Amino acid sequence: MGNIVAIVGRPNVGKSTLFNRLTETRQAIVDETSGVTRDRIYGKAEWNGKHFSVIDTGGWAENSDDQFEEVIRQQVLIAIEEADVILFLVDVTTGITDYDEAVADILRRKAKKVIIAVNKVDDNSQITESSYFYKMGLDNLFPISAINGSGTGEMLDYLVTILPTAGEKETSDLPKFTIAGRPNAGKSSLVNALIGEERNIVTPISGTTRDSIYTEYNKFGHRFLLVDTAGIRKKAKVNDNLEFYSVMRAIRAIENSDICFLMVDATRGFEGQDQNIFNLIERNKKGVVVLVNKWDLIEKDMHTAQNFENMIKARTAPYTDYPIIFTSVIEKKRIYKALEKAIQVFENKSRRISTSKLNEYLLPLIENYPPPAYKGKYIKVKYVTQLPASIPTFAFFCNLPQYIKEPYKRFIENKLRQKWNFSGVPINIFFRKK
Ligand code: GDP
Ligand code: GDP
Repeated sequence: MGNIVAIVGRPNVGKSTLFNRLTETRQAIVDETSGVTRDRIYGKAEWNGKHFSVIDTGGWAENSDDQFEEVIRQQVLIAIEEADVILFLVDVTTGITDYDEAVADILRRKAKKVIIAVNKVDDNSQITESSYFYKMGLDNLFPISAINGSGTGEMLDYLVTILPTAGEKETSDLPKFTIAGRPNAGKSSLVNALIGEERNIVTPISGTTRDSIYTEYNKFGHRFLLVDTAGIRKKAKVNDNLEFYSVMRAIRAIENSDICFLMVDATRGFEGQDQNIFNLIERNKKGVVVLVNKWDLIEKDMHTAQNFENMIKARTAPYTDYPIIFTSVIEKKRIYKALEKAIQVFENKSRRISTSKLNEYLLPLIENYPPPAYKGKYIKVKYVTQLPASIPTFAFFCNLPQYIKEPYKRFIENKLRQKWNFSGVPINIFFRKK
């Protein structure tokens, strides 16, 4: 179950510095999955064995113009609705600004779990000044220095105590499928088509559906939960053209699932936003099935689908081993095929290969194509085994793991994918010393 912590605060208070500090160590691990890009807006953090996601709401504000304050106000509202904990960052060197007051006001009225971090308290002499911020009427205030790390430990000690506990885990072990995608791609229409009743309101105006919900579903002898997260737009009156909103929503949906459909609107192509969601799915180690929807609206010839597929895969490369299905929810075309694929991806994600099969296949192959020697030293792989993990994860034991480079890992990954079906799932490959 994903726990989300959102960092809010005005520009220059130190949000991105704090974000980096919180996600630093974990990010390195996350990045071992091939082809992922780092960005400043979303990352994984861990403290005292508790895991959570961190979102830097400042990552979006940049390209907005005169509505700047309104945009930030909306982001705070969205963060309150979508995150489990709000980390409100202020700056000890500037004192309380009008903007801080405005945010504090929203938080006091609407937010449940808030931490105020008074940043830039680089040495103890400023600690007294930081208590000045209690004037904003919010408790749980921590003086910190995002730059040198002082005070962040105490803050995190408290933060992890207010995260929702794992005890709230769902009772069901059924695989969870979710549909992520930009507004208007057809997500709620698909849920309706699958569930076969007008539980949702679908209108041409995006974002008019209700809360996230799990629906148990039976198909092809498989049971699973369909997670419908379209539209959680009840309380916050937000403009859902905001990129921030759809990303926030996607994160929530993705974290609560095993397999994600990434639904793309064929009439709009595969845009930056689709790519972002794709990366989020991969970085969260979830299975993926891409649905290119509204295919009925596309003028087609023999090559259209293939061209479309090539275009998408060029954007997600080097990760290209996942299913793409061309759907028309309106005409009910290939929507069951989409489910079938998701079930297949779930099986791929759970696939375990015995150590003997792995070694039988991979050792001769590695013998023939060994990792390139480094500074005259030869790298010898002794054996391979699959580790228990949420996605297929393989450890290669060898004499000099530090000399294995990314292209060789990719070569091994491709071999694994050719031999066994891992379509739609990210693979982790580690080289370890033995
Ligand atoms: P953001 O706009 O809120 O994301 O702020 P940044 O993280 O980009 O930081 C803005 C400026 O404040 C940068 O110059 C940082 O180096 C500086 N800064 C951030 N945290 C601290 C801190 O703890 N102490 C001091 N002295 N400066 C900081
Ligand atoms: P959501 O915001 O992703 O949940 O999108 P909706 O399900 O609300 O759909 C947005 C609009 O696209 C609605 O007007 C739907 O009727 C329409 N739509 C959904 N799927 C298709 C499709 O396959 N073909 C066409 N032509 N329109 C579709």
